[in-house]
Amino acid sequence: MPKYSLVVPIYNEEENIPEMYRRLSAVMDNLDRHSELILVNDGSRDRSLQLIRDLYRKDNRVCYLSFARNFGHQVAVSAGLQYARGEAVIVLDADLQDPPELIPYLIELWQQGFEVVYAQRRRRFQENWFKRFCAYTFYRVLNALTDTKIPPDTGDFCLMDRQVVDVLNSMPERDRYLRGLRAWVGFRQTAFLFDRDPRFAGEVKYTFRKSLALAINALVSFSKVPLRIATYLGLVAAAIALLMAILVFYWRVFYPGSPLTGYAAILIAIFFLGAVQLVCLGILGEYIGRIYEEVKGRPLYTLGEIGGFEKERTQNPR
Ligand code: UDP
Ligand code: MG
Repeated sequence: MPKYSLVVPIYNEEENIPEMYRRLSAVMDNLDRHSELILVNDGSRDRSLQLIRDLYRKDNRVCYLSFARNFGHQVAVSAGLQYARGEAVIVLDADLQDPPELIPYLIELWQQGFEVVYAQRRRRFQENWFKRFCAYTFYRVLNALTDTKIPPDTGDFCLMDRQVVDVLNSMPERDRYLRGLRAWVGFRQTAFLFDRDPRFAGEVKYTFRKSLALAINALVSFSKVPLRIATYLGLVAAAIALLMAILVFYWRVFYPGSPLTGYAAILIAIFFLGAVQLVCLGILGEYIGRIYEEVKGRPLYTLGEIGGFEKERTQNPR
């Protein structure tokens, strides 16, 4: 049984895999105990899977899961966690933005008794101002709206103890915002500050759309405040409407011919109310859509291929 499991999600990373393997295996060679490297192919359309198979044949520490299509980063990591056998599980990206050489430091903190060691970015340099601005606002809004303290500027690069991984694996939910879930489980957690490197090669796989979806997921799965905001919006609209009614009545009686009684006023009121209702419906829809997804209870992913794990674990877990 390996002591350490390294989980790496991979989506179209053919340019990065050789270098990633070179640096990771150097780190693994120097660990104090046996380790396994779990490569999760998230439905790549380039040569990633072939490269993964080659590594699997060459190195018996390598095992892999290959999804039948692209299910997204969070699901890929979740699958890796379900299959990991180590006492400590380390999650890192395939593009070498999370330097593998830091793994021994994470392990050191784990040995000091921390069940979760998450890597936290000291600064974000190579990202453009727009991404930085979005990330900054997102983490602040998220923390204002949730009771779970989710540390800002952390990614999925972390080390988790077996106990934590078992808890995460037992969570049946499909919207897996892992950074949030990881904070939610509790245990002794600590940050490890690091500077995130630029991508080794290739394009970013997290498009703006995927990032936005992740952000909405995070907010909706960790907070019910948006629902309350819907209520408040409704109350504010009602208050404005009441005020207007009183004003109009007053003007009608005391200032005949007031301008506020024409079409414009009516149209504005209609649009305003329509907007409030649509926003509230949208918020409700986000939650109901999630209930629907959960109730359907489909498996989190479908496996096309698997290498290095015993047969009975190849069933698709929920
Ligand atoms: N990734 C994945 N599935 C996806 C998108 C990304 O498995 O649908 C993987 C990708 O191969 C990489 C990691 O997730 O190992 C992080 O992706 P990326 O570097 O594009 O995002 P960022 O660095 O902005 O977090
Ligand atoms: Mg990256």
